[in-house]
Amino acid sequence: MTQKIVIVGGGAAGLALASRLGRKFGRSKQLEVCLIDKNTIHIWKPKLHEVAVGVIDQSIEGLQYRDHGLKNGYQYIRGSIENCAPDQKCIYLAPVLNDDNEVIIPQRKIEYDYLVLALGGVSNSFNTLGAEKNCIFLDSLESANRFHDKLLDALLQLNETQTHLSIGIVGAGATGVELAAELHHVIESVTQYGYTNISKQHLEIHLIEAADKVLPQLPEQVSFRAQAVLAKLGIKLHLTVQVKEVTKAGFITAAGETINANIKVWAAGVKGPKVLENFSALPITARNQIEVDHYMKVKGIDNIYALGDCAQLILDTGKPVPPRAQAAAQMAETLFKNISAQMKQQPQKAFVYKDYGSLVSLSRFSAVGNLMGNLRTGTFFVEGHLARLMYISLYQRHLISLYGWFSAFVYRLAQRLLRWKRPKLKLH
Ligand SMILES: Cc1cc2nc3c(=O)[nH]c(=O)nc-3n(C[C@H](O)[C@H](O)[C@H](O)COP(=O)(O)OP(=O)(O)OC[C@H]3O[C@@H](n4cnc5c(N)ncnc54)[C@H](O)[C@@H]3O)c2cc1C
Repeated sequence: MTQKIVIVGGGAAGLALASRLGRKFGRSKQLEVCLIDKNTIHIWKPKLHEVAVGVIDQSIEGLQYRDHGLKNGYQYIRGSIENCAPDQKCIYLAPVLNDDNEVIIPQRKIEYDYLVLALGGVSNSFNTLGAEKNCIFLDSLESANRFHDKLLDALLQLNETQTHLSIGIVGAGATGVELAAELHHVIESVTQYGYTNISKQHLEIHLIEAADKVLPQLPEQVSFRAQAVLAKLGIKLHLTVQVKEVTKAGFITAAGETINANIKVWAAGVKGPKVLENFSALPITARNQIEVDHYMKVKGIDNIYALGDCAQLILDTGKPVPPRAQAAAQMAETLFKNISAQMKQQPQKAFVYKDYGSLVSLSRFSAVGNLMGNLRTGTFFVEGHLARLMYISLYQRHLISLYGWFSAFVYRLAQRLLRWKRPKLKLH
């Protein structure tokens, strides 16, 4: 009988895995591959800040799971997992509600032979008072859209009143830095679209970070350079500043100061999604992540795997695999190879994390980062257009895992052509 593999979460890890398994085993019915996601379209998460500011339009650049599944040999089910019962080899999907909160599909039970959880992560407020209520957490498509709507309202108001718009971002990791730089350039662009009363003087962007530098996880030179670029763009950096409370008006720091902000974004820390608190049968860490071994198998549970940001895999160095797109892609690649090996009754290989370095986009025109050389050369620093090209190539690699080489090339070309003719900003 054909075995059924159910993958929950169609992000950087889950969608790459479903696509490759579907093409290799799903089309030929050697495996039944099923992908479940709460959304109907996929946007690569490192592009969320671009959705938030309107540089990309999800209705054009988003991948439709249903269509993609049809063409790539997997079945897509729309739904949000709410629990799993490993002893019965099944998961439960929450009831689907319409806009009036009426149940249109009741709770569903989905059975599996193998289950892969790839639910991603969410920003970590570290229980900061008022953060959940007053901040947008830029960690999902819904939150990126919410930010976009708020930004459009604020721009409309600003154009009429010419008062002042202040945007505060907590966390100067990749997400915070990329969002701040992109926002700066958006304000430069909106004047072309009739917002003629808006200028840079009307906007303040605050980037607040508890560490003493931006991009604290990255090498000194990368932080230093990014910091210089942000300062040049006029972004106000608040380093070694701890946010103690968030109110409607802004951020209150541990030193008792207030940083006023009309729009407040929380982009610090990563933890597993809240829903994992329900998964009492699985080993869940204090950060809501699922503990997995070097084969991404959930510790102590048969036939369940976890990948990407929702998983905690401790490397031989004693450190966890970082919550990054390259790690999610590598985990998906290893699990794909191991499932393929299992189909041929060959031995499986343990996951080895390769850090290829990090690239941080400083809007459409530039990027900064470090790339890993070999043992002799160590890491080397890149910036400007070259770094930007490399940054784009990361997305290209993601597309290749989703479509295969040829289709990824055609898709990207089509995107470029559309971008040429389309408005540069989504202003609706
Ligand atoms: C703004 C931003 C910029 C970033 N930039 C970079 C970068 O430059 N480089 C880098 O390496 N990393 C970057 N990251 C981190 C990177 O995006 C993540 O590490 C990566 O996407 C993790 O992949 P994943 O598959 O684990 O989760 P995700 O890609 O987040 O996918 C999770 C999927 O699960 C679905 N899902 C969630 N809950 C449920 C549920 N209950 N039921 C069903 N489906 C569910 C979601 O809809 C989503 O499709 C960035 C992150 C953000 C937010």
